Amino acid sequence: MSLILEQPMSQELLEKVLPDDLHNRALVDNVHPADWHNPEPAPRYNLVVVGAGTAGLVTAAGAAGLGARVALVERHLLGGDCLNYGCVPSKGVISAARMAAAVRDAGQFGVHVPDGWKADFAAAMERMRKLRAGISQHDSAARFRDLGVDVFLGDGHFTSADTIAVAGCTLRFSKAVIATGARAAAPPIPGLDRVEYLTNESVFSLTDLPKRIGIIGAGPIGCEMAQTFARLGQVMLVEAAHGILPREEPDAAEIVKGSLLRDGVRLLCCGKGIELHPRDDQIVLRVSSHGASHEEPVDKLLVAVGRAPNVDGLNLEAAGVAYHVKAGVQVDDRLRTTNPRIFAAGDVCSQYKFTHAADFMARIVVRNALFKGRAKASTLVIPWCTYTSPEIAHVGLYPREAEGRGIAIDTYTQELSDVDRAILEGETEGFARIHTKKGTDRIVGATIVAADAGDMISEITLAMTHGLGLKKIADTIHPYPTQAEAVRKVGNLYNRSRLTPFVKTLFQKWLAWTR
Ligand SMILES: Cc1cc2nc3c(=O)[nH]c(=O)nc-3n(C[C@H](O)[C@H](O)[C@H](O)COP(=O)(O)OP(=O)(O)OC[C@H]3O[C@@H](n4cnc5c(N)ncnc54)[C@H](O)[C@@H]3O)c2cc1C
Repeated sequence: MSLILEQPMSQELLEKVLPDDLHNRALVDNVHPADWHNPEPAPRYNLVVVGAGTAGLVTAAGAAGLGARVALVERHLLGGDCLNYGCVPSKGVISAARMAAAVRDAGQFGVHVPDGWKADFAAAMERMRKLRAGISQHDSAARFRDLGVDVFLGDGHFTSADTIAVAGCTLRFSKAVIATGARAAAPPIPGLDRVEYLTNESVFSLTDLPKRIGIIGAGPIGCEMAQTFARLGQVMLVEAAHGILPREEPDAAEIVKGSLLRDGVRLLCCGKGIELHPRDDQIVLRVSSHGASHEEPVDKLLVAVGRAPNVDGLNLEAAGVAYHVKAGVQVDDRLRTTNPRIFAAGDVCSQYKFTHAADFMARIVVRNALFKGRAKASTLVIPWCTYTSPEIAHVGLYPREAEGRGIAIDTYTQELSDVDRAILEGETEGFARIHTKKGTDRIVGATIVAADAGDMISEITLAMTHGLGLKKIADTIHPYPTQAEAVRKVGNLYNRSRLTPFVKTLFQKWLAWTR
């Protein structure tokens, strides 16, 4: 017997994420099929996974592949934020904005584009929806069913230390994983509750370019979207801190800020006293920035100020799982919650809110939950990247963090203006920077600002993960001309720093003697 879905996705949610078109119908057919029948639950599961974003999907597929009896519970769209309202749609639209910027700048390369060209926002969004629908096959309910996972669509919540209820069924488990992710946080801005604003869940359903869009929050999501909208239309970015990307190394963030401003982003940073007021069809944003008061009407407002873990409604108390509304589910280094049967992975329990981090946490959970493994999350070397132009990527410690831990460092920086490929591409603004433990070549952190910094950082992540020093990077042949040569050149800087006056004198004596 199979159970008819008791909690079909709400019409409201469908409309919010999905302007009705063929691509979105294809997406929903994959990740929340309307005619889905929840299976008859097994008497007991090795693993029940709540949430089918990256963390949940990787956990479920990994466990089922190893022969475990697995149930996967999802209340909205399989694929979670990454597929539906995060990485995939954002990078899809970013690629259109990059193309628009390339056409705009083509004259610098001797390619003359006739006046009157225009970026077609609606077409760019449709392209993104089409690509997203295609990618969604990987995360489809049918695919996971075929992998041997029992997929339950519905809102899951704990009813005891070893049971979860979903859509009228009770799922008994030996182990469970909370992988319910996070959502856009609603900051305490006066007037926010009186205006209709966009978050990452609704911004990708826009089909018409807003004449003027305001974005609150200059973190990674705010900056990526600000540059994208600026390249396709008009945007104002409001940030409470100074500049943008406050977490990044200041000179790295400054380069990205310059690029955003050149693209036409109007930045109101050090924003104080932000207030929102509805006025006719617009939202009026009042803010004081650097001593000047601004009153700016916008047609749409995107709020991108932090993420809140999805812990509400899970009834974690019934399962004895400790959590905090801001930090999420409490886990130890093995990703075990305060209930030893229950683990957590991904945005719901981690400060590293990235898809690749959720993926690798899920792998740890599979080992530790099913095989009494002792894998630790603290051993993961997690890079990240903000996909502005140029991109800004980081791995390991920032200098301030190294200082806070009492680790003395040496810093080596290679400017892109000395890298032939960057010169030829007209992308000389940026650098590759590596921090090593003082007096050694052991890498403790790195920042890259470059067109493809997100790709370039992987070489340094590999080195850090496997204990390869900066000297090994210097000894590795890189094809010429590539921007990744910048990373090898940082290695050269390290080698040159080893050439102390004493060593140099020895070399000179040897060379004089063998002349
Ligand atoms: C605009 C944007 C851009 C991003 N870009 C990038 C990027 O370029 N690179 C990158 O690495 N990361 C990026 N991220 C972050 C990335 O999307 C997340 O880190 C990742 O999706 C986390 O995966 P997760 O499985 O932990 O959670 P989620 O993907 O949020 O999945 C959690 C799932 O749990 C479900 N759920 C919640 N509660 C329940 C319940 N009670 N019962 C059943 N189901 C439930 C939710 O519906 C959801 O599907 C971006 C995020 C945003 C918002």
